[in-house]
Amino acid sequence: MTQTSSRTRSNSKNNSSKRNSRGGSGSSFKSSRRSGGSGSSFKSSKSGRSGGSGSSFKSSKFGRRSGGSGRPSRSRNGRNPSGNRGGRGRSGERIPIDKFINTNPKAAQGAPVIEVTHTFSDFGFELDLVQAIDGRGFVKPSPIQDQIIPHILKGRDVIGLANTGTGKTAAFLLPLINRVIEKKAQTTLIMVPTRELADQINDELKSFTRRIKIFSTVCVGGTPIRPQIRSLRQHNHFIIGTPGRIIDLVKQKVLILNKINTIVLDEADRMLDMGFINDMRYVMSHMSESRHTLFFSATMSNDIKALVNDFLRDPAIVSVVQTRISTNIAQDVVRIAGRDKVDVLKDLLKEPELCKVLVFGRTKHGVDKLCQKLNKGGVNAESIHGNKSHFQRKRSLDRFKSDRVQVLIATDVAARGIDISEISHVINFDIPDTYNDYIHRIGRTGRGAHEGKALTFVG
Ligand code: AMP
Repeated sequence: MTQTSSRTRSNSKNNSSKRNSRGGSGSSFKSSRRSGGSGSSFKSSKSGRSGGSGSSFKSSKFGRRSGGSGRPSRSRNGRNPSGNRGGRGRSGERIPIDKFINTNPKAAQGAPVIEVTHTFSDFGFELDLVQAIDGRGFVKPSPIQDQIIPHILKGRDVIGLANTGTGKTAAFLLPLINRVIEKKAQTTLIMVPTRELADQINDELKSFTRRIKIFSTVCVGGTPIRPQIRSLRQHNHFIIGTPGRIIDLVKQKVLILNKINTIVLDEADRMLDMGFINDMRYVMSHMSESRHTLFFSATMSNDIKALVNDFLRDPAIVSVVQTRISTNIAQDVVRIAGRDKVDVLKDLLKEPELCKVLVFGRTKHGVDKLCQKLNKGGVNAESIHGNKSHFQRKRSLDRFKSDRVQVLIATDVAARGIDISEISHVINFDIPDTYNDYIHRIGRTGRGAHEGKALTFVG
């Protein structure tokens, strides 16, 4: 029996193709993900570039100096010819240039691998779910799944410190799906910073519940509220939404928070960055005291600690935050040296190996302008940012995912949480605000077993 919620279907018409492309056969998850700890990820990449000549970064063309060919100039062997000036993001954080360089990432290997101690069968999941996990080709749990699923199954509050790409979505979905199978009357609210992440989580949910009668709905801004109101009038096991729309629905009394048993706050650090602190507090204060709270964040800043103290009860803390940037990502800078940045980018994009390129710009306006200029210059590019409608963003993402456009230009917020495999290059057209943003940006490439390259434009 294949049973899919009509509510789910009506809210995410385009999701089936996405699901198919992401599911794949065989595990794409590499158990060699690096372990957590407090050390700076930067230190390791520095040591990783000591060799220089052993660089696995093949694009020798990019190594040419500027002038002559008019091609962008990039640092050689990871050296920083102009000293350590670096760039300053809007937040004022100065990021030294050498943090953007690691042309020999493989040499950075050597950090301990997190051992996975469970198999999926150890969790005692219901048969339908076991079959669904098998159908997805997941062979063994990722480290975050390995460590956090037993706590969630026991009903304990959890804090998961994990980046996107670690399998954190399945880490909370699998035990919660299992709970619904065992005990139907369950509702989980999953609150996330962006619409894209909400869609992605719903896709992942559906990929596990094709044969299980589980209903979900996505409640995000930028799309008509009426279908969401209609779908909320029926029972949903999972409601996935962004803070603003969730609060609208609560105020219209269609979403009754104290009837919800479980809340997942995913990418809580990003929700804070995006100014959703009051919304988060509002939602939490309207939920039942006996709720089960699952809290995921890539960082544990003081602000996050304060939230955790207020929102969770005796949580189990599981950290798989990588201390290093994936060893699959070669990083380098492109020196602009007074040239027109757009021309430099256009030149780079002529290289055949830059086949699927995610470009980061700082402002919505800047992203739009850059997109127009690239299109005028014959480059097939699309842009996404917070002022675009949900439909526009989804269409651009789909076109980029299916290789109909070479370049996607995004702001940090819009790109948050997007999971697109095989991005060949991430280009930081504008320097990120913080080093943490930098790590998030470049983590879009080099996913799974793929090699990726990150280039940062510097003055
Ligand atoms: P996430 O961190 O949730 O964005 O997951 C990143 C990717 O890893 C997604 O495409 C997941 O479907 C995939 N994934 C999650 N868990 C596993 C696993 N145990 N084995 C293989 N792939 C996985």
